[in-house]
Amino acid sequence: MITITSETTQLLTQLVEVGVLSVDAVGSLHHTEPHQLFAILKHRFMLNDAQLIDACQGLANLSIKTASDLVIDPTVWSKISKEQCAGLFPIYWDNTEIAVATDNPFHDGIIQLHTQWQRPIHRFLVTPADLQKLWSRSTSTNEPLTALHHMINHALSVSASDIHLYKQELDTVMMLRIDGKLVHQQTLTGQDERQLASLIKFHGELDISKINQPQDGRIRHLWQGVSVDVRVSSLPSAYGEDYVLRLFNTHHKRDRLEDLSFTESALSLVSQMISHRHGLILVTGPTGSGKTTTLYTLLNHLKKDKTKSIITLEDPIENILTGIRQSQINPGAGYTFIQGLRAILRQDPDIIMIGEIRDAETAKIALEAAYTGHLVLSTLHTANCESTLLRLQSFDLDPFLLGHSLKGVISQFLTPQRCAKCNQAGCADCHDSGFKGRIAIHEMLSIQTPLALKTQDDFKTLMSQNQYYPFYQDINQKINDGKVSRDKWAG
Ligand SMILES: [Zn+2]
Repeated sequence: MITITSETTQLLTQLVEVGVLSVDAVGSLHHTEPHQLFAILKHRFMLNDAQLIDACQGLANLSIKTASDLVIDPTVWSKISKEQCAGLFPIYWDNTEIAVATDNPFHDGIIQLHTQWQRPIHRFLVTPADLQKLWSRSTSTNEPLTALHHMINHALSVSASDIHLYKQELDTVMMLRIDGKLVHQQTLTGQDERQLASLIKFHGELDISKINQPQDGRIRHLWQGVSVDVRVSSLPSAYGEDYVLRLFNTHHKRDRLEDLSFTESALSLVSQMISHRHGLILVTGPTGSGKTTTLYTLLNHLKKDKTKSIITLEDPIENILTGIRQSQINPGAGYTFIQGLRAILRQDPDIIMIGEIRDAETAKIALEAAYTGHLVLSTLHTANCESTLLRLQSFDLDPFLLGHSLKGVISQFLTPQRCAKCNQAGCADCHDSGFKGRIAIHEMLSIQTPLALKTQDDFKTLMSQNQYYPFYQDINQKINDGKVSRDKWAG
């Protein structure tokens, strides 16, 4: 895990590279104990927190955070005492790793924790001021789980994507969206109803005094050691306010391409597409077809190559991906996709993810980036490979640039998945429906033989000269594998 000597060398090299430390200075630091290095750099060489923290980017098992970004698992204190973690602040402790906040990445206590517990220690590097903040927060609050926490926990445990609360004349109806469908949960009245509404407004950082205009906010919720982003929106209604809470659950981390229900043929095409060093890869489909999940999984796969720098440009950031730099555009404040894209190109990335190509201008810059040596991944709101080519053409892109940059298209939609337990006979697990969850159906075009794309005839040539894997082939394979029902596709 942490090999302090190679890490301190990496840090010092970085500081020399950015010009805040001289090579001579590094020479004088040879015999420094790793845990003292930060202090010496600060006091003897006058480096500030920002310079030091910046230079730690890229160290393994380390992410740079602010105190407000960190969600502390309240149960962590039952596993570690304050004495045991002098100078470190424990954040969570799960089956796979221990996470601590620290203002010194080479702190002695990190090695001690690792030696004692024999598991990886993830370091959240914060400023000394933020570490103080974490300590003061921990002594002032120790709040019990509220009705709001229980409601969100329940929704996450049944894999719901949204919680809906509709205010009626005498009560509030609560529903969950599960597998795309709204399912009634319960009706809240009196004190329960009022308490939940005020908890949502308080934790969602909405203005409590306003009830006559829509608002939005967010709650950071801790679920099994992972921070789940919950977006809250309120809407004035006839009897008060309705709320919808969207759950961005990173819990079902999909790091592996194998988790995406690709068939073997599809998987080999995907591997082919992402093995390109530059070019454009598009994931397409209607709203709610799982495009973002596919895109994030591709990025999680690509980030395993530590020599590549990955930057995303999103609106909004739907999941926090560790080890990847994510940037959220903010058109209201003048930070648009175009500006963002220009800015990140100056950051010398290898791989760029653009949340969505919405217009010709974004498409043009994405294509230029793809043509000039970057691997660009994005989504497009089209139903299949052919309509994707048509949409790209409608953006009036350079036919040569388009033909030579496009490396692949993955189109997808979701369909009910047969219950694996009862084989569609109906059981308690699937509420007697025979189906549980949804599965993606894919169509793909992997382009190895480029062709300038001027006319629709060129599209046909392109598809015939390259590897095209159509929806029907995927559906047939998944019917044969028992994953989807034949009935749905008959006729
Ligand atoms: Zn079943």
